[in-house]
Formats: sequence, structure tokens, C-alpha cells
Amino acid sequence: MTTIATDVAEILHYINGAPSAGTGTQTQPVYNPATGEITGQLHLASSEDLEQVVAAARTAADSWGEVSIAKRTKIMFRFQQLLSEHTDELARIITSEHGKVLSDAAGEIGRGLEVVEFACGISQSLKGDYSDQVAGGIDVFSFRQPLGVVAGITPFNFPVMVPLWMAPVAIAAGNAFILKPSERDPSASMLIADLFKQAGLPDGVFQVLHGGKETVDGLLAHPEIDGISFVGSTPIAKYVHETATKYGKRVQALGGAKNHAVVMPDADMDLAADHINAAAFGSAGQRCMAISVAVAVGEGADALVDKLAERGRGVNVSHGLDEKADMGPVITPASKSRLQKIVGEAEQAGAALVIDGRDLVVKDHENGFFVGPTIIDKVNREMSAYTEEIFGPVLVVLRVDSLEEAIEVVNANPYGNGTAIFTSSGAHARTYTRRIQVGMVGVNIPLPVPVAWHSFGGWKDSLFGEHHIFGPDGVRFYTRGKAVTQRWPEPTQQSTASYSFPSN
Ligand code: NAD
Repeated sequence: MTTIATDVAEILHYINGAPSAGTGTQTQPVYNPATGEITGQLHLASSEDLEQVVAAARTAADSWGEVSIAKRTKIMFRFQQLLSEHTDELARIITSEHGKVLSDAAGEIGRGLEVVEFACGISQSLKGDYSDQVAGGIDVFSFRQPLGVVAGITPFNFPVMVPLWMAPVAIAAGNAFILKPSERDPSASMLIADLFKQAGLPDGVFQVLHGGKETVDGLLAHPEIDGISFVGSTPIAKYVHETATKYGKRVQALGGAKNHAVVMPDADMDLAADHINAAAFGSAGQRCMAISVAVAVGEGADALVDKLAERGRGVNVSHGLDEKADMGPVITPASKSRLQKIVGEAEQAGAALVIDGRDLVVKDHENGFFVGPTIIDKVNREMSAYTEEIFGPVLVVLRVDSLEEAIEVVNANPYGNGTAIFTSSGAHARTYTRRIQVGMVGVNIPLPVPVAWHSFGGWKDSLFGEHHIFGPDGVRFYTRGKAVTQRWPEPTQQSTASYSFPSN
């Protein structure tokens, strides 16, 4: 039974420099997944709200793009400072709507801060190129200019980090940015908007518009929006990419994942088990880089499964504000039921359930959406536990005979976000990293999320579009190149105009 918290918050949009209820008449409940309580009512945007936000963004983009890089980055430095100072407050907001443990929420803010810091140094990335005297008296220079108005559509699982993968780079590069956060944990984006305002960002440069499919469709089709960054599940990423490109926009759409960790028999099994356990069950497995498949190679498999089971049983599942908790709830009752169904199907199809967290009840939080760590061994590639992105604390184990077979398994999977190999052989690591068709690879590192001055992105069904996100690709995505060929003839110089195509 759903209960309602005593102080249900009204969650507004952030339009042109101020919180606003907008003109929409619809609201949607927001839950605390650890208690099952309704804690907020989210205002959903009307089409007039969308028009107002886009018009404000367009006006803001025109003047913001003219502001000097020095002034833009000064504001970004102030934003960095404010974000650091508000980490605890922001982490509590994340935990109360997402459910992840507080230290993990602070960790996601830290990774977002890295991107803000990268954006503070955007002057370096916006430097152009110059070629002197490419022909007699002619020089060429090229540089990058902002797209204009860009929108970011983000998932529930990183309500701060993913918006910060996008907005700081877009804004530092001179664009206005509209954020459409997940409806499930929307409050953190309101504090981000307030901190941008406190940092001195002009009104309209960063705005927040809440809504679901209708709002997203409005953004994808709007003629005044130049670019769309999306992060979420694969079917929606594909849809966003197809739709927004049809409307002539630049799009980067990051999708779902099924990340494999290959464990060679020569690996340090304790290190592998420690890291795979943490990467499978941290944040209740609701990370796009979570390890959801362990590929046990050769004779090491039994030892690996025993060690994983031992660690999995030791995971403390509780309310994210409980300091002893390692892992919180999943996001919705629907996520929990879906996960229970998929685990049941694997069991019926003959897989071995090593740890079963399906029916976990957490004391004092009986209405929370909790599931315990679950490990399924001897899974095959036809089972739904393997073919589906479960997005919960479920680790499946596939057993293979060789590195060659492991590479074939991973490359045959439609997703290509992250992967890891655990081995003590440099040769195995090199073969794997070179041949694997995945965008981000870890060697004895389970969650190879690149630092902010590299870029983040998967291959295959994990990313639609040409650009990875943040870092150098982020700068390229939010700007377009211009090449200028110039001649400043001396007054005495003779004209050399010709009817033939000019050559050097
Ligand atoms: P989701 O696809 O359900 O939602 C993402 C965004 O799309 C939300 O803002 C949502 O409002 C919007 N949306 C949902 N349905 C829509 C529809 N029919 N039409 C238009 N817009 C729609 O994803 P989620 O459940 O919030 O997040 C989890 C998913 O995101 C997982 O699949 C995870 O792997 C993925 N993810 C990927 C990355 C990555 O970097 N590749 C990072 C984080 C999360």
C-alpha cells in the first residue's frame, strides 16, 4: 500500500532564471524507494511551457554566445565551488529520490564535478588552428562556434552526474541548455539550476523542464533547438536519435548496457571477486557501467563463483541514509517485479541460483522496493537473464573454455558500453582490449568510466550518433567548425582572379 509523506514537496520547473509551476495542469508523484512513500508532486510541462523555455533559451543563447570565454569560465569556476560546498545537500536529495547510499550519491557528484572542472578549462579546447601563407598572401584559420540551443534528456540512475556530463560543456562552449530530467528523481536538477544562478549564469542559459514522452517529443521536433543529448535505455535512445535527426538536429543518444567482466584462470581471484561484487551490486546494479555478466574462463570458474557468493552474501542492503548500508533499493516496484520474473525464468530454464535476493524484506522499511544481491550461475545465452538488460542487483555467470570464446561471446552481444578483463597476463589484456567491440574497457578495473578529459561512450546499441559524451567529443558535439580563408592584399598588389578553379 502506498503511503504519503507528511511533507510532500511541490517540484517545479526552472524557467528563465526562476522556479515556476508552469501552465500545465498535470502532476506526477515522486517516491522515496526506500520507504515506498510519495514524497513529491512533480509539475509536468504543457506545450506553452515548452515554448516559453525554448524562447528564453534562444534569447539567452544569442547573448551568451557573445560573452567572452574568460567571463564564461569565471562563472563555471564559481559553479564548481558552489557545487562542492553543496555536495552533502545534493547527495541527500539523490538518496531520497533514487535510493542509492549516501556515499555513492556523493561519488556521482564527484564525477560530475570533474566535468565542471574540465569545462573551467574550455579555453584550451576551443583554441583553433591557423595555417599561414597557404597560397600567395592567403592564410586559413579554423575555429569552433556554439550550436545555439541544446537540450539534454537524462535517466533516473544518475540524477546529477549525467546532467553534469552535458550542461557544463555545452554552457562553457557558449550554448543555452535545457534539461529534461527523469521524472523519477527530478529534485536534484532544481538545486543545480539554483547553483548556476548563484554562480552568476544569466537567466535562460540553464533551464529545467519536467515531463515525459510528450515533453521529449516537443523538444525533439522544436525548430529552435539545435542539438539533443540523450542518456537512457536503448529503445528510447534509438527513437530519440531517429526522431531528432529527422528534424535536422545533431544528436548523441547513449543507450543501455550489458557489461561483461571476463575472468581468466590466471587472475587474482580475490581481487576479481571483490571488484565484480562491488560493480554488480553497487547502486543496486542500476549503473550503465554495472557489471551484470561474469564470464568465467576455464578452470577458475568454481573458485570465482564461491568467492562471489561469499561477498554477495555480505552486502548490507538498507535505506541509503543508513551509514552501514552498501546498497539501497531499486527504483520502482515495477523494476522489482520485472527482476523477480527474469530470475524465475532463468531458474526454470535450468540455471543455478547461487544467491537469491528476490524476496528480501528490510526491517523497518517493509514498503521499500528492496531486492537483495542475486547471483545466477550456469546461465546460457538464450535465457532472458542474459538477453535482457535487468538493471538491478543481479549478476549472471557464463562459463566458457577460452579467451577466444569469451571474446566471441562479448562481441556477439548487441550492447557495447563497458567491459573488463581480470588477468595477470599482459598478453591476454592486450589481445582483449584490441579485439573487443566495446567503447570502454577496463583491465583489472571493473567500471572503466573515463576521466572527464577523455570522453565517455559505448559502441553498437549502447550509443547512437557519432559523438561520445563530455571531454573532447563533448566540445565537438556542442560546437561546429568554421574554416576561414583570408586575403588582405597590399594596395599595390595586382588582382589574380581567374575563371579556373584556384590552385595553390
Ligand atoms: P529511460 O530510457 O526510461 O528514460 C530516460 C529518459 O527518457 C527520461 O528522461 C524519460 O523521461 C525519457 N523517456 C522515457 N520514455 C520515453 C519515451 N517513450 N519517449 C521519449 N522519452 C522517454 O531510462 P531510465 O530507466 O531512466 O534509465 C535507465 C537506462 O538508462 C538504462 O537502460 C541504463 O543502461 C541507461 N543509461 C545509460 C547510460 C550510458 O551512458 N550509456 C548512462 C546512464 C543510464
